[in-house]
Amino acid sequence: MQDANTQQPSSKPHQKKDIHSYSHKELVALFKELNQPAFRAKQVEEWVWEKNATSFSQMTNLPKSLRSVLEENLTLGGTEELVKQVSQDGSRKYLLRYPDGVSVECVGMPNRGKLAVCASSQAGCPMGCAFCATGASGFTRNLTAGEIYEQVMHVRDDFDTRVTSVVLMGQGEPFMNYDAVLSALRKLNSPDGAGIGARHLTVSTCGVIPMIKRFANEPEQFTLAVSLHSAVQRTRDMLMPGVKKYSLLHLYDVMGEYVDKTGRRPTYEYALIKGVNDTEEELASLCDFCRDNLAHVNLIQLNDVKGSKFQPSSEARAQEFVRRLANVGVEATIRNSRGSDIDAACGQLKQNVERMSR
Ligand code: SAH
Ligand code: SF4
Repeated sequence: MQDANTQQPSSKPHQKKDIHSYSHKELVALFKELNQPAFRAKQVEEWVWEKNATSFSQMTNLPKSLRSVLEENLTLGGTEELVKQVSQDGSRKYLLRYPDGVSVECVGMPNRGKLAVCASSQAGCPMGCAFCATGASGFTRNLTAGEIYEQVMHVRDDFDTRVTSVVLMGQGEPFMNYDAVLSALRKLNSPDGAGIGARHLTVSTCGVIPMIKRFANEPEQFTLAVSLHSAVQRTRDMLMPGVKKYSLLHLYDVMGEYVDKTGRRPTYEYALIKGVNDTEEELASLCDFCRDNLAHVNLIQLNDVKGSKFQPSSEARAQEFVRRLANVGVEATIRNSRGSDIDAACGQLKQNVERMSR
């Protein structure tokens, strides 16, 4: 990069790098190279991470010459909002496009002065769960840490209020993109970033065991949710073919280790599907899986996915699950879907511009 004080037009075309991908150390080195004082790194970081600046020209406490050198050589990610839909319940769903044309969805859910964001970790998903719209649309690519972070900031800026919690329950399997996810969580957690408490940052995984082990060893108190959906091996294999190689027995053991190591209570997600995972055998197996373990079960009414053969269970059946789990000392809640009128509910996030813009 050129010295900010001796700015020359660049002759060779080059790919601009996203400033979100620079570590603090790298930024300090960059400003040294530009003959700028070290405090510039801090100033720029504030604009990038706390203020979510969308152009270098907004960075008014930097010299003009430096702003134009940055502008010429770097990008600020450049997330573009393609579509925004507002649900009757106040949730807003966004379709955001990154500079390479790939798009993902994220959702903002306001509730009594709080704002929860559901963000995507990948464009599409490689895991192919049978009941999930994202799984059906295939995998496009991993998102970078900056791209994950930007979704949250986009929602924050649109609501113009602080984000109080984030769940990585949009598109993608976070533990198939571990490093970027961890780095995004750390920035979301950092006082120099979004400043969201670690316990309010939740990763939901379909059960990628090696990464659950890794997650257990991270120093932060991030929250873990595991999509269980069945505690019967053959049913789970059918519903979630992408994690067939990790047996339920293995998952059970690893979750035990997770609890021992972290002392934190994991959530198990269970979308109730009529006649598939809501039978007596399934309920008994779920109780066995959770009893004597630190666990919270989130029962989700299956959301309608176009072309899917699965039907949601009845409300009465969901209540029966809650009652029977309580009998073995396991707390369960029935989660209401937010934004189902705009297809923003779990498992319905899918890239479909045509349908969204109708
Ligand atoms: N890939 C991760 C996180 C994204 S999915 C995971 O699977 O955990 C977020 C949650 O939505 C998961 O619990 C997932 O199982 C659930 N889900 C997917 N499709 C659904 C549907 N049609 N109805 C209800 N929940 C669904
Ligand atoms: Fe991927 Fe999660 Fe959907 Fe399964 S449920 S296909 S892991 S996004």
